[in-house]
Amino acid sequence: MKKTEMMYEGKAKKVWATDDPQFVIVDYKDDATAFNGEKKGTIAGKGKVNNVMSDLMFTMLEKEGVPTHFVEKLSDRQTLCRKVEIVPLEVIIRNVSAGSMAKRLSIDEGIVFPRPIQELCWKDDEKGDPLLNDDHALALGLSTASELEEIHRMAGEVNRIMQVFFDDLGITLVDFKLEFGRGADGQLLLADEISPDTCRFWDKETGKKLDKDRFRRDLGDVEEAYSEMLSRVSHAG
Ligand code: UDP
Repeated sequence: MKKTEMMYEGKAKKVWATDDPQFVIVDYKDDATAFNGEKKGTIAGKGKVNNVMSDLMFTMLEKEGVPTHFVEKLSDRQTLCRKVEIVPLEVIIRNVSAGSMAKRLSIDEGIVFPRPIQELCWKDDEKGDPLLNDDHALALGLSTASELEEIHRMAGEVNRIMQVFFDDLGITLVDFKLEFGRGADGQLLLADEISPDTCRFWDKETGKKLDKDRFRRDLGDVEEAYSEMLSRVSHAG
């Protein structure tokens, strides 16, 4: 499969068309942004960590029966994926309070919820990815009712699988963001990435943050945290 033209360049990834219209090549960058692009920087080696870790996560999830866009890793930074039409929703799953939810509700970070919370955001940078609920998503035509039902079901399943997976690695899965795509036959596939850019990971023993909050909050040791996560995930099982 050969790269043809660049279809899209986002904040952290480029997506290339290939000579087969069913597939795209995702190319991960070291660029980092936070707060809807207000804070910019680079995290050396992040592209490799996010690519390799996402591929390992998608492979693990596929084995557990979750359909994903992943096809094969091409290199440290590039992955061949099934071409999908991204559903313009960011699905956030929270097991422990943190980040924007803790701020919005004026609650402490670190509260362990008795059951996971799912939130939806409208994937639209110009609007600042606003929080919305299922009724908004349906009324605005962002997805169909049956898709939404399937998205919530898959997100819950991915959370159950990932919580156990990370717990075994000595990590609390605090929260994370998923995106879904429509494949060629309309089937929903888990898409985008699963990495320290899109998840909050806290070390179970020390509480150390091993994710993008080190960059967002200027906590230092950013590169180390990303490579620590890749190393733990690579040695799983
Ligand atoms: N997240 C993401 N992309 C976004 C917004 C959030 O990957 O555009 C992830 C984020 O890394 C965290 C979870 O979703 O693991 C919840 O993020 P939150 O709503 O707390 O927003 P933040 O505090 O990151 O702005």
